Amino acid sequence: MSRMNIHTRTLLILLGSFMTVILLFAGFVYLSVSSYTDRDFDRLLELRVRSLVVHGLEEQEGDAPGPLVGELIDRLSDEQDHILPMDMEGGARTMAATTGAPPEFFTRLMRYGQADHVQGGRHFKGLLHKGPKGAHLVVASAENYYEEHHVRHLRKNLLGAAGVAFVLALLLAFHFSSTMFKPLHRIAEQVRQIGTENLHQRIGEEQGSRELRELASTFNYMLDRIETAFETQNNFISNASHELRTPLTAIIGEADVALSKPRSAEEYVETMQVILEEAGHLDKKTKALLFLAQTGFKSGRSQFGKVRIDQLLYDVKSTVERMDQRHLVHLDMSLLPENPTRLKVLGNEQLLHLAFSNVILNGCKYSNGQPVTVSLGTSDERVIVVVRDRGIGIAENDLAHIYDPFFRGANTKGYEGYGIGLPLTRNIVRMHGGEIIVSSKVKVGTTVQITLPVGPFDLVAGRAAPRHSPVE
Ligand code: ADP
Repeated sequence: MSRMNIHTRTLLILLGSFMTVILLFAGFVYLSVSSYTDRDFDRLLELRVRSLVVHGLEEQEGDAPGPLVGELIDRLSDEQDHILPMDMEGGARTMAATTGAPPEFFTRLMRYGQADHVQGGRHFKGLLHKGPKGAHLVVASAENYYEEHHVRHLRKNLLGAAGVAFVLALLLAFHFSSTMFKPLHRIAEQVRQIGTENLHQRIGEEQGSRELRELASTFNYMLDRIETAFETQNNFISNASHELRTPLTAIIGEADVALSKPRSAEEYVETMQVILEEAGHLDKKTKALLFLAQTGFKSGRSQFGKVRIDQLLYDVKSTVERMDQRHLVHLDMSLLPENPTRLKVLGNEQLLHLAFSNVILNGCKYSNGQPVTVSLGTSDERVIVVVRDRGIGIAENDLAHIYDPFFRGANTKGYEGYGIGLPLTRNIVRMHGGEIIVSSKVKVGTTVQITLPVGPFDLVAGRAAPRHSPVE
């Protein structure tokens, strides 16, 4: 049974249940009709015997036992009646020979006053009557016509009907089970055709029952996520190799040019400086990549503790302002709650420091020294940090890609950066159960809102290790 496919199994279950009901029903009808006719015939035969007693003996006292004169009910099928004197010559044997009933029927009749017997479809009933003319045995026997003809006919019909029902049930069950599983086969077929080369393909959700539509839409939802992850991964690899190759090409080119002919000491120093600078880029990029991988995909050990976001922001402000004297951060704490515990988040302080510095540094960097406002507030178990700048903004087309590793806005030429900061920040925020929303308008400014749940909350266990410096 376990190897049998679900289609055959359903077919057998349907057929089995259908036939069980049909056979039970037919059996019940047959048995009840058969037992009813049996009882009814028995009653009729008894009436016939009593009628024989009344009309053959009591009304005709004095006459010799003979054929029946008056009858209360119709004679039964192939009925034979006998009124025999109790002291008949030859006893039970002669009586048996006369009537066709066995001698022990008469022995019982004489002893108990009444007896029944059935032999080859023929029913015998006898009564002992004692009257002024002595004791007589009154015996009537007849064929149970209903049993013999009607019930046999019924049995034949029922068996025929059961056979027809079986064929019908088989066809119905086959049709039902195949139409029932057709959508499943269709879904399986569609799924089979989806591979890495056509991940954009989706399963039709329009047909079938609600459950099947739900299955298809769940599957499609999963495909959406897989496709996004797959594309991100694909872009990530091509972007990463491109980004790493740029400084490498510069280093190789610079060394090639320097070595093509003898150079002066100053020229070698200049070359070494370019190489050092490019190697520095390479170093930063590899570190950033590693870090992104650690926060994004791999599990590491990270210590989570209570972090007060207001204090953290003060730290970030001083770090950012120390990095460049043009950086100006204005902290707005006017919406702060009175209860400072509502500002505590369960998290990794260094990672959160990194996330906020990335966003605030971006604000400073892309607004050419104009002050960046950082506001802190709380709502329903959440801490909200809003970083607002009046810088170059992000074009609408670019906004969808700012979390792609290595993506840089079209208007960022002349601003240093690798396009790692925001994806990294988003990884960190998500790791803390939070959310980041960026809204922006070109040449007007950018607003980044980071929401974090107030601790304690369920953490995704074991994530990135926290040793780092802000990534540009
Ligand atoms: P980077 O700043 O190193 O380029 P990020 O990952 O931090 O990389 O940001 C990705 C892109 O998002 C940037 O290249 C830029 O186009 C855009 N961006 C992020 N923050 C801002 C901001 N405050 N103002 C304007 N553009 C921004």
